[in-house]
Amino acid sequence: MQNIVWSSSLPEVYQTLFEQDDEISFAMDTKGNIQLLNKAAVQILGYTRAEFSRVDYSKIISGDQLEAVTDRFHSVLQGNKASFRMTVKSKEGKIIHLSVNTVPIFEEGHVKGAIGIGRVRTEEQYTRELLNGQNYILQMIARGEPFGDVLHQIAVTMERISPGHPCSILLCDEEKKHLSHGAAPHLPAEYVSAINGISIGPAQGSCAAAAFLRKPVVAADIQNDPSWADRNKELALAHGLKACWSTPIFDDDEQVIGTFAMYSGHVAAPSEADIRLIQEATDLTSLAIQHYKAKEQIQMLAYHDQLTGLPNRRQFRQKLEQTIKYHPEHPHTLFFLDLDRFKFINDSFGHKTGDDLLTMIVDRVGSCLGENALFSREGGDEFTIWLEHTNRQEAADTAAAILETFQEPFLLKETELFMTASLGISLYPDDGLQEQELLRKADIAMYEAKKQGRNMFQFYTDILDDQSLKKLKMESELRSALSRNELSLVYQPIQHLETGKVYGAEALIRWNSREFGFVSPAEFIPLAEETGLIIPIGEWVLRTACGQFQTWRAQRMPLTCMSVNLSIFQFYQPDLPGMIRSILTETGMEPSHLTCEITESTTMNTETAAAVLMQLKDLGIGLSVDDFGTGYSSLSYLRKLPLDTLKIDQSFVRDIAVNENAEKIATTIILMAHHLGLHVVAEGVETPDQLAILKAYRCDATQGYLLGRPVPPEEFSAGA
Ligand code: C2E
Ligand code: MG
Ligand code: MG
Repeated sequence: MQNIVWSSSLPEVYQTLFEQDDEISFAMDTKGNIQLLNKAAVQILGYTRAEFSRVDYSKIISGDQLEAVTDRFHSVLQGNKASFRMTVKSKEGKIIHLSVNTVPIFEEGHVKGAIGIGRVRTEEQYTRELLNGQNYILQMIARGEPFGDVLHQIAVTMERISPGHPCSILLCDEEKKHLSHGAAPHLPAEYVSAINGISIGPAQGSCAAAAFLRKPVVAADIQNDPSWADRNKELALAHGLKACWSTPIFDDDEQVIGTFAMYSGHVAAPSEADIRLIQEATDLTSLAIQHYKAKEQIQMLAYHDQLTGLPNRRQFRQKLEQTIKYHPEHPHTLFFLDLDRFKFINDSFGHKTGDDLLTMIVDRVGSCLGENALFSREGGDEFTIWLEHTNRQEAADTAAAILETFQEPFLLKETELFMTASLGISLYPDDGLQEQELLRKADIAMYEAKKQGRNMFQFYTDILDDQSLKKLKMESELRSALSRNELSLVYQPIQHLETGKVYGAEALIRWNSREFGFVSPAEFIPLAEETGLIIPIGEWVLRTACGQFQTWRAQRMPLTCMSVNLSIFQFYQPDLPGMIRSILTETGMEPSHLTCEITESTTMNTETAAAVLMQLKDLGIGLSVDDFGTGYSSLSYLRKLPLDTLKIDQSFVRDIAVNENAEKIATTIILMAHHLGLHVVAEGVETPDQLAILKAYRCDATQGYLLGRPVPPEEFSAGA
């Protein structure tokens, strides 16, 4: 070994070690001159020891690193350790990456020089190291290891490949306003916590600026870099961080989702290799962030309702089972909430409006629930609420509070809509010990609340169970009622008030069930609507009524009108006009002789309803609004619809002779309807007094028990 200047102080052991090592080993004096170089170094670098002692370092060390490397050695010669990477060129011009570890040598407390080891990494080795690191991280992601661990691993991998450069990953928040800590394994804790939550902006540090500018920000000298002008500069410098190279991380939609940064304790720009490394780290981090975000969303999807963000049925069941398992001794309560007539909103205003309304309702209901409640969406307009540690009285109070939130109208596209809900309640342990039973009973109680007139809550009782069983049976009976000929039509005469002539009939359905006897349409029509059976039944009604009308006409009965009720469910069937047209053709009925009766609620969304009504009008048939006055509509809305007839609801007619208010309303309706050119029929006329008043106010026609009850066709007679 030549040129050993301070061999007197250099322990023998170094020499031995140096020569045995197949990595580059060196020793330098306090001036930075290489004094000792092992055989491996000579082989790798291609310079003889003599050549090396004279060589110009700027020829060996890659230009972009010269300053930083010189800096490092200076620092070591002042007594510090250093690990860094450098790229050198061999005598033959080959690029060699080195990982350098170097330490100062002291003698009697003074630095006498430095020794170091340079581990060679060829381009291939370097690439392999990077690939191995990447693979390991990808495996971690695939194994579903915690997100934080993956980010940590990305940082330490890059730090290992580029020693001496602590890395940091920051994550962007949803609003794209702040960056928060992701990983920074080797940055000082005080610094990490100061950076956590920084605002994205041009001068709060390289990362904030990189996220802000959407491009890499290289602060080779934090001290003088504009990206550090506003904040954190002093803190960074105080911790010995002098350079920071940050790159924004993008997702697949080109949105900034974070930053990756490498720091340096020296004023320096990144080497080409570091730039490549930062790019790799950025790609990996982007993949990791997106993967974990997607996973989170899938989790969210699996346990939450997408529209409202509420827990879904699955989460609800889990929660309920857990409560019962861990707190079997406490009372708990289950609510089943169903919105009243929500289907009408969906059908007449469209699904988008329906969805908006649901979201508003969820907000309101949610606002009156406490910590002990789990509010979940079962589907459609059905919700469940699980109230832990809640007894009957507390449940009643909560239910009342929920209904109270429906008092105010909901504002949708400048339309004020009043909604109501029906609530069914079952109690643990009284009504059941298991989720299924509690849910079933709350559902039954909810139906009872609907039956009682909606907009209320009902506790489950055993009586209800029998009723719901009956309903189920009825549904199954109704399914075969048509084929078993259990359905029939009765006809009620409609009479001109002035002439006293019966000119028309309203067809009203009857069901004589083998199981239940006569069932009122008020009971089975809603059931038919709920089950969709209204569609075939409604078609049968139309065909039968039209056929009957033609029979009567053939018998020379002086009838000009057959009135048939249409359910809202039929009304919004796209093939309704086609169905009516073919029945008219089939029976040979003159279209103007048919009148379809629809209720006010059917026309709630004037625009959609008007479009359907126009199609029906085009067929040449008459259109009538049934039960007028019971809904929310004003007469003025009728102006927009192509209607012919208005039927005043029997509740007004009933009171007309005894209650001044009812009289006023009925008479106003008649006046205004005439103003709009509508024909007015009063329903439910039972007494001569009622008839006299209606006549005085020039109502056009009446229908009611006074003139005739609904009867089977063979009993029907027309004329004066
Ligand atoms: P609606 O269309 O308003 O029919 C008038 C109802 O009032 C009939 O009840 C009729 O029997 C009853 N009524 C007639 N005159 C008087 C009277 O002077 N006093 C009293 N108290 N009641 C009178 P019904 O037949 O029980 O039908 C009830 C409802 O069921 C009907 O009300 C209608 O909305 C529906 N409905 C009946 N048949 C059909 C049908 O074929 N299809 C559809 N979709 N609904 C139907
Ligand atoms: Mg009717
Ligand atoms: Mg009516």
